[in-house]
Amino acid sequence: MIHGIWDELLGQPEAIEQLQQAVSSKESGVAHAWLFTGPAGSGRSNLAKAFAAALECSDGGCGTCQQCKLVLAEAHPDVTILRTDRVVISIDEIREVASRSSMGTTMGKYRVIIIEDADRMVERTSNVMLKVLEEPADNTIWILCAPSVSDLLPTIRSRTRSLNLRLPSVDEVATLLVQRDGVEPNLARTAAIQAQNHVGMARRLALSPDARARRSETLRLVLSIRNLSNAMVTAEKLLGVAKRDAEAIGLERDQTEKSALLKAYGLDENEKIPPNLRTFFKDMEENQKRRQTRALRDGIDRIFTDMESIFRDVMSLQLGTGTALINQDVSAELQARALDSTLESSISILDSIATARARLNSNSRDLLVLESLCTKLINRGSIAA
Ligand SMILES: [Zn+2]
Repeated sequence: MIHGIWDELLGQPEAIEQLQQAVSSKESGVAHAWLFTGPAGSGRSNLAKAFAAALECSDGGCGTCQQCKLVLAEAHPDVTILRTDRVVISIDEIREVASRSSMGTTMGKYRVIIIEDADRMVERTSNVMLKVLEEPADNTIWILCAPSVSDLLPTIRSRTRSLNLRLPSVDEVATLLVQRDGVEPNLARTAAIQAQNHVGMARRLALSPDARARRSETLRLVLSIRNLSNAMVTAEKLLGVAKRDAEAIGLERDQTEKSALLKAYGLDENEKIPPNLRTFFKDMEENQKRRQTRALRDGIDRIFTDMESIFRDVMSLQLGTGTALINQDVSAELQARALDSTLESSISILDSIATARARLNSNSRDLLVLESLCTKLINRGSIAA
């Protein structure tokens, strides 16, 4: 393995090739602004981190030197990741990272600034961003990540070099789980299908019985909504599932980050942190705390994804497409639902889920969004559409 940092990025050979080329042409100058687009789960932010590591590493991204390790642990002093915990990125957040871009580097060759969710900028903020991209500081590389190019102002798009990522296939995700995590092939495949090709989610489903149990609980709850009062109770239970899921993921991620940071500084798991490194660990802990609000939203979003999978299955049964179901484990319930409801109602439920997702992102109260969605899930039978 020569370029270890690229190994876990699935199904993006063209993008990786372009980035490797950019890295190997360091001397002649790397484009100073990039736009990485792709659906959630395509690995946008992991690719951004790998690129940053390759830029800082004197060996083009070996994955083993301290520069690489610090970038991957999100603790490199010259690599900033703006991951907002708000609904939109504030103008001050952009100003703050912009002011950093004018400072020199500490230990790396470049100052790299990664902006996750660059689609979450209102126009005023986008204009500040644009100004920054128009007058780039020396040796500073900006990497903006967003679902699609249309999420950004054309003026910003025209100043960036864009790379579009695709969602990896079920087979690619399953193979990675088998090879990297030692997951049994059948389980790996089921997890990849249930996670709808999202690598991170598939990995959790494959490795954590608790995550699988929470997912089954979601399916069961959603399929059992019969009337209004029942819908209200279910909404609350679903919020509970999302909370537990967010906590479990948070805990796991915090630990992974901490051990990556320890490793980057060559420390053992239980070793006392030397005074000169303490601020780095403090920063990490601060970030972890700030992330909690966002984590619950993500948990609810995963519930929406699971709900969508149910009604996509119901819809494909109603259409008789013959495609394999995402949720094989509840196929009997899905068959019953398909017979006892109309295609129109399945379509309208999928619309309601999309609306709920948009409302969640526009800062409506979590429980209200879930309640109103659950009332839409009451099965009114196959007669009344
Ligand atoms: Zn390296």
